[in-house]
Amino acid sequence: LDDTRLTWSKAPCRFCGTGCSVNVATKAGQVVATHGDIKSPVNRGLNCVKGYFLSKVMYGKDRLTTPLLRMRDGKYDKNGDFTEVSWGTAFSVMAEKFKHALNKKGPDGVGMFGSGQWTVWEGYAGVKLMKAGFRSNNIEPNARHCMASAVAGFMRTFGIDEPMGCYDDFEHADAFVLWGSNMAEMHPILWTRIADRRLSTPGTQVCVMSTYEHRSFDLADIPVIFNPNTDLAIANFIANYIIKNKKVNWDFVNKHTNFRKGVTDIGYGLRPEDEREQSAKNASNAGDSEAINFEEYAKFVADYTVEKASEISGVSQAALLKMAKLYADPNIKVMSLWTMGVNQHTRGAWMNNLIYNLHLLTGKIATPGNSPFSLTGQPSACGTAREVGTFAHRLPADLLVAKEEHRTTAEKIWNIPAGTINPKVGAHAVLHNRHLKDGKINAYWVMCNNNMQAAANMLEEGLPGYRNPENFIVVSDAYPTVTAQAGDLILPTAMWVEKEGAYGNAERRTQFWHQLVDAPGEAKSDLWQLMEFSKHFTTNDVWPKELLANNKNYKGKTLFDVLFKNGNVDKFGLEQTSPDYNNQEAKDFGFYVQKGLFEEYATFGRGHGHDLASFDRYHQERGLRWPVVDGKETLWRYKEGSDPYVKKGKGFDFYGKPDGRAIIFALPYEKPPESPDKDFPLWLCTGRVLEHWHSGSMTQRVPELYRAFPDAVCFIHPSDAKAAGLRRGDKVRIESRRGHIISRIETRGRNKPPQGLIFVPWFDSRQLINKVTLDAIDPISKQTDFKKCAVKVSKV
Ligand code: SF4
Repeated sequence: LDDTRLTWSKAPCRFCGTGCSVNVATKAGQVVATHGDIKSPVNRGLNCVKGYFLSKVMYGKDRLTTPLLRMRDGKYDKNGDFTEVSWGTAFSVMAEKFKHALNKKGPDGVGMFGSGQWTVWEGYAGVKLMKAGFRSNNIEPNARHCMASAVAGFMRTFGIDEPMGCYDDFEHADAFVLWGSNMAEMHPILWTRIADRRLSTPGTQVCVMSTYEHRSFDLADIPVIFNPNTDLAIANFIANYIIKNKKVNWDFVNKHTNFRKGVTDIGYGLRPEDEREQSAKNASNAGDSEAINFEEYAKFVADYTVEKASEISGVSQAALLKMAKLYADPNIKVMSLWTMGVNQHTRGAWMNNLIYNLHLLTGKIATPGNSPFSLTGQPSACGTAREVGTFAHRLPADLLVAKEEHRTTAEKIWNIPAGTINPKVGAHAVLHNRHLKDGKINAYWVMCNNNMQAAANMLEEGLPGYRNPENFIVVSDAYPTVTAQAGDLILPTAMWVEKEGAYGNAERRTQFWHQLVDAPGEAKSDLWQLMEFSKHFTTNDVWPKELLANNKNYKGKTLFDVLFKNGNVDKFGLEQTSPDYNNQEAKDFGFYVQKGLFEEYATFGRGHGHDLASFDRYHQERGLRWPVVDGKETLWRYKEGSDPYVKKGKGFDFYGKPDGRAIIFALPYEKPPESPDKDFPLWLCTGRVLEHWHSGSMTQRVPELYRAFPDAVCFIHPSDAKAAGLRRGDKVRIESRRGHIISRIETRGRNKPPQGLIFVPWFDSRQLINKVTLDAIDPISKQTDFKKCAVKVSKV
């Protein structure tokens, strides 16, 4: 490359929730190279293999460049072929279908499914269009499949979402405990920081827990393979060990915690009617619980002896004791880390709570190196999916649709009439699919995710809803994914630096980037699509007559005027932007909409513990960790001297709770919803591989990444393979009670399952493992369990 003709700019990586920063080189309107950003405090110049090939994700041969509508004989037909149409035709057909659904079924008749890949203002605009415009709370992010249990865990224990610690903890901790996480492949840059600490600081210990052996075990001082679902028993045993060995930090516990007992919620995987009821009941993500005292808690966990925990989990008593000592020893600073292993769990919310218990009992929290840390999978799982309120029960900054005072706050900030926001909690992600299948949702818009590949039990619970003749499914994507092909209208979408953007990573760091190149053909950003679509509706189309009768000045206005071109958003004119500014939406809409939306959104959190810096400040920084107060970011929340919200003399203040105390929960071990039996004798666990991000829709189009791991395989223990008469490389049928796929077995390599368990990655659209998985959910968080179900494997 002739480096002198390149323009270099900063941007966060497009992929995982680590939030690495990259330098992006553009030349002649194309991204031509990226490298790790040396100025980034997150990745310090490094990237993982996905980050190194970022420059190629936008240039797959089958990039979508024009809207495609299923048509026959010149008009829309659900069984027609995808045909190129203009944006005008696409939006008018789509608007007709959405209006029809709203007229027929009311706000419940429409739905939207987005993700933590939305930029902050795209997610925020989606929430405004659905919750204020269509008065429907049927909007969900893919985070429901990914982070919902973490959210529920935070809200139940601390009353505020997201980690109290930060990545600086990696350089302070003495011990790292991975609860079901394979960071070596899923968060490789953070893993380099653990490896650095472990290899450069004598005495550092790494405990890796999983249901199968993977690459993170290479660094494990304490390797722990446990039976699926038994992490609940292990965590309770450790709490019991802390108490029995008199290692409770009484000063901390007495001043800063309360104890509560979980009341068993209803079971998993219920049909929609029951789930709706439960969804409303748990609108605050609180679940049911009642106050208890320490003695009652101690009595509860006393049952979890090392013998019992060992028997349930299959882990040796010696290994369990080693783990427990890490938490119990007051001289060891512990960082607990987890992602999908804990969250994709029918008791994921509980499991999050149980890990917090260990840190709260010992006071090992919110100080450098003492850090229960929930990692994220998507680049803006925190910044967008969670913070701007894209869940069916939420509004921005942890506010809830079910609470009147929260709706009032949002209505005031949005400058819309009181009573506009619907108090009814929307359907969660699994219910979206069921409601589409049952014909309860008829118009549905999927943006920046590949839910048909990602959702569990997809043949029974996903596809029927998409192909239901009553329904109209719109999919906005950059590539023709499985989901796009199952829909009725495909909208071509601008990616990453083809638009202005902001993401929020796992350590509360908000990062911005500028648009650097134009999107190909007619592709447009999700923000442009949401705003342009809003012009096709007036308030008369979507708001009830009574609301308009009392608020006559809103009558007949377009949703665009009400939601996106009002006093809050439309105060940033083009003249205020920087001279090198290249902003597609601003050109089309005539105002600096991203800045307007961001500043409006930021007013939700400022002064309430979620303070964001100004739009312009973020463009000068490699991100800042909120709350940002008086221009300073916050590294450790809840700790005096670090968190500006903690008053002098308090030491710690868990201010998300009215009395400033975090909650230690008594919650039992529970059996999994489905276990192997004589017909389906093996466990199946699904997950990712280093080279591919999520459903592989981008990384499989990068030749180097594709060649590195072209096809999914079925990792199996050699003895299980031998017992089934199988040899390495044999073609096999993997079958559950829900469906089957064909794969090939692998008895060597990076993943080494124990006898009785297979591991299959889900990135490969030619091997849709989610035909096989179980759509059982956590009754509190509504998150799906992709980590365990019963299967059999046979030779084809
Ligand atoms: Fe960093 Fe994740 Fe991107 Fe890899 S995929 S470079 S770890 S943000």
